[in-house]
Amino acid sequence: MPELPEVETVKRRLSLSLIDKEIIDIDVFYPSYSSLKQINNEKILDIKRKGKYLIFVLSNHFIVSHLRMEGKYHIKEEKDLSKHDLVRFNFKNFYLFYNDVRKFGTFNCFNKDIDIYNEYPLKDVGPEPFDVDGRYLYQKLTIKNEPIKAALLDQHIISGLGNIYVDETLFMSSINPHRKSNTITEFEASKLIESARIVLNKAIKLGGSTIKSFESFNGEIGHFQTELSVHLREGERCKICNAFIIKDRCAGRGTYYCPNCQREDENKKLFVITGGYASGKSSVLKILNNLGYETISLDDIYNNLFQSSTKMKNAIKKKLKISSKEELKKLVFSDKEKNNILMSITHPFVMEELYKEISKMNVQVIFIEVPLLFEGGFEKTFDKIIDVYSSPAIRDNILKNKGISYEDFIQRSNSQINIEEKRKKADFMVYNDGTKKDLLFKVKELLKMMEV
Ligand SMILES: [Zn+2]
Repeated sequence: MPELPEVETVKRRLSLSLIDKEIIDIDVFYPSYSSLKQINNEKILDIKRKGKYLIFVLSNHFIVSHLRMEGKYHIKEEKDLSKHDLVRFNFKNFYLFYNDVRKFGTFNCFNKDIDIYNEYPLKDVGPEPFDVDGRYLYQKLTIKNEPIKAALLDQHIISGLGNIYVDETLFMSSINPHRKSNTITEFEASKLIESARIVLNKAIKLGGSTIKSFESFNGEIGHFQTELSVHLREGERCKICNAFIIKDRCAGRGTYYCPNCQREDENKKLFVITGGYASGKSSVLKILNNLGYETISLDDIYNNLFQSSTKMKNAIKKKLKISSKEELKKLVFSDKEKNNILMSITHPFVMEELYKEISKMNVQVIFIEVPLLFEGGFEKTFDKIIDVYSSPAIRDNILKNKGISYEDFIQRSNSQINIEEKRKKADFMVYNDGTKKDLLFKVKELLKMMEV
């Protein structure tokens, strides 16, 4: 459906060909548009736009046109109708056709002495992001208990933003689409207005977005769809933090966002426990859990999904042609290329589940064990990184308990990135080189240092 940038593009294209040209008369081939028949021998003085409405300013009338889902304009030198042409504006040397497969588009005709901005449908169209500031939006939002996405789609509050540009505006403002409108601060409202202007201007510059069928004029398509940050990018990486873009439903519309850049609760801090194989990550997580902190293990999520998600299992089967967990385990440590494919399949599922669990936890601090943090490219996805590493004695003990040989360990370690590299990227470190009691002491010291 055309939104503000698409309609602005149509307006600009039509203006180039039509301003100062005289409409001799109009042929109407669809009864709902019969009011257009009253127009004859009138010059088009200007073409304006309000929200998603086009306004043709004629010598004696205004025509207000809304393209809805599929409305399109074409100019031709021949007067022959094409399929779904519903209106023909006859000029001296050419014809303007209005074509609409779905017939949802609308036309309203007014005499020139009428203040059209106070008449239906334009009176219900709110100001555009270009016309207002953050304070205006903030005042409108404080009285709304609906998701911010719904409020931004509401053309009475602010006009011109549809599904695509609301998703992009919210992403640029780092605001979760599900957040209640009345929790948005005045600062955030200003950020929303500013982002909306940037997104819309860029889209106008690129001639709008052509996703299903938008053509601005005479078959021209838009190019903003290649610039989208979140919309239609489900399962792809966020351009800022590398998390996976999520799609769910909000305000009745398919909604795309980055669960990390657009957190529902910004005060929730996500701390990662990572480290090499057999370093004691799980022991640290267990201690934190015993101390009363909320913890999540990505391995647990993965294992659960492996049991419950047919979608994930099928995706693995399709791409790697294996389905048993044992085979997969072997592959993870022996074939780097196939392991990368496996990660690219499973990570979006695992991360989506992770964010679901996070949103259920009603606390400010969550510790998450992420074994392949760096290998998966997630180092920018969390707030702080805690690296656990162990002395050879501890490591050998862990390996023994897991029933894994040293050769196996070397192979597994080789499939992960260098321990030294990890250490450099971490914010905090826990050296696991003593008894369980020592580790408990170190974790408590860590918590003091982190002030949580
Ligand atoms: Zn992100």
